[in-house]
Amino acid sequence: MKHSLPAVAVSILAGQVHQTYAEESVSSKNAESTSEAIQMKPQFCVLLIFPVCLIVTPSRTSRAQEADILLRGGTVIDGSGKAASAADIAIRDRIIVHVGNGKDVDAAWTIDCEGLVICPGFIDLHNHSDRQIVQPKTRAAVNYVTQGCTTIVTGNCGSGPVDTGAYYEKIDLHGAGLNIAHLIPQGSLRERVLGSGNVEPTEKQLEEMLELSETAMQDGAWGMSTGLIYVPSSYAPTAELIAIARIVSAHNGIYASHIRGEGTVLLKSVDEALTIGREAQLPVHISHFKSSGRDAWGLVREAARMIDTARKSGHAVTADQYPYIASSTSLGATLLPSSARAGGTKELIERLDNPDTRSRIRTMISAAIVKRDNGRAVRIARYNPNKKWVGRSLADIATSEDRPAVEIAEEIMRGGGASVVNFSMSEDDVRHIMAIDWVATASDGRAYLPGSDRPHPRNYGTFPRKLAYYSVQEKVLTLEAAVRSMTSLPASILRMTDRGLIQEGLAADITVFHMDDLKDTATFDNPHQYATGIRHVFVNGTPVVHNGKATGALPGKPLRFDGRRTSSR
Ligand SMILES: [Zn+2]
Repeated sequence: MKHSLPAVAVSILAGQVHQTYAEESVSSKNAESTSEAIQMKPQFCVLLIFPVCLIVTPSRTSRAQEADILLRGGTVIDGSGKAASAADIAIRDRIIVHVGNGKDVDAAWTIDCEGLVICPGFIDLHNHSDRQIVQPKTRAAVNYVTQGCTTIVTGNCGSGPVDTGAYYEKIDLHGAGLNIAHLIPQGSLRERVLGSGNVEPTEKQLEEMLELSETAMQDGAWGMSTGLIYVPSSYAPTAELIAIARIVSAHNGIYASHIRGEGTVLLKSVDEALTIGREAQLPVHISHFKSSGRDAWGLVREAARMIDTARKSGHAVTADQYPYIASSTSLGATLLPSSARAGGTKELIERLDNPDTRSRIRTMISAAIVKRDNGRAVRIARYNPNKKWVGRSLADIATSEDRPAVEIAEEIMRGGGASVVNFSMSEDDVRHIMAIDWVATASDGRAYLPGSDRPHPRNYGTFPRKLAYYSVQEKVLTLEAAVRSMTSLPASILRMTDRGLIQEGLAADITVFHMDDLKDTATFDNPHQYATGIRHVFVNGTPVVHNGKATGALPGKPLRFDGRRTSSR
């Protein structure tokens, strides 16, 4: 019987946790660990000097079940929503091979999990790491693995690589800190074929979009996404979206949507998504489900009732949510309708330079600022031309510069635009939606390295925040339900069958945390803070976090959807 450990595990046992980038080291407080002693077999210690994969042939009894790693003595929340129970978990060759009493497991490496919660690794349905996950500095996705994430879904809000096969191959080549599942981004698809203008496709152009979608689904995309407030995703009429969705449907994929409006037009926008799902006969998933803006507060509950009705009639409809009352996108998308943003920054500047169109645009910006608490609700997250403004609200900048807020906004748009954090939601709405059993947890963030910008703290804290703050402290939902919302629920939404539960035979994507230490430490003022309390994270059986420290390992792989692979054309 041969028996192996991943190279990274060997390094960990030898005390050499990978730290690929200095910025990525987790705070020492987080990393301190006294309770989880690593118990190594004596014959193992002598072999630790070998830097790479290790083969051991110890003497074993015939009864013993062989394993690479045994997580012993933890409390298991299996992801199904079922109550927690005590169990040991054994991992072998990237798979969970045993759940139960581990006394007959003969493991190369035993990790004491007494006092710790063991659950499936978290699946982030809504992530924007499309670029970061293929770049050397960010592919370890440290701000996500330290939240307990083991899979992220990219291609969201209609934006990302269109050529799914080539994207997956890049990840195959270098690996990643976690697994990647990709959606066909309809906005980028449209841009590739039609450019970014407000134009209708010819028959030939529509055909080209459908062909590209067909190829992406055959290459393993899990569905399609739209970003219907963004240019040029927003220029697609419903019929065009249905045509693409039919291709996706033929491969059993899903339709995920950042809908046309999350303010007072919320119900109409949800209705459009439901129509696309009905017409193309595929599941509909509403991304970052919310009522945005005070005048729309409460509407999201009505939208939830609409979705309940659709679900009762047999239509698979779900949503996701991040556990914060602020959203984050570009300043342009926050203050201007997509018609004013057609053609991107260059054309927007032309319109601002043209006296005929300038006053109309400034009127729109002014009205949007008034609606956002006179600019107090909108904070600059990133704006390279003037870093002094980062972290401050439009109202605050206007006061200190002694200029109207509309002028500040115009200057930023002329300067290439900024990303902003927008305090737009009602806490009551957030809690109401969070308690619904078809609403998954998702971050809407991306892989980051600590920097001078002030991104939304969701990039660092989404999953621990929902568990520690909203579930345990505020009791909005049980801990088991909260874990389900980030494990088996997103897996079932995607129709992913090999992850999302602690179950024998499934992939060994596992997160181990200490409930008392679990905390999202990232705040709006100080967002570049890794969450605490996540002790161990395994991706395909390899530790990406050990004793609270990111290992820098890259065991993540592209997950290729294996729907019905017959051509739909
Ligand atoms: Zn979005």
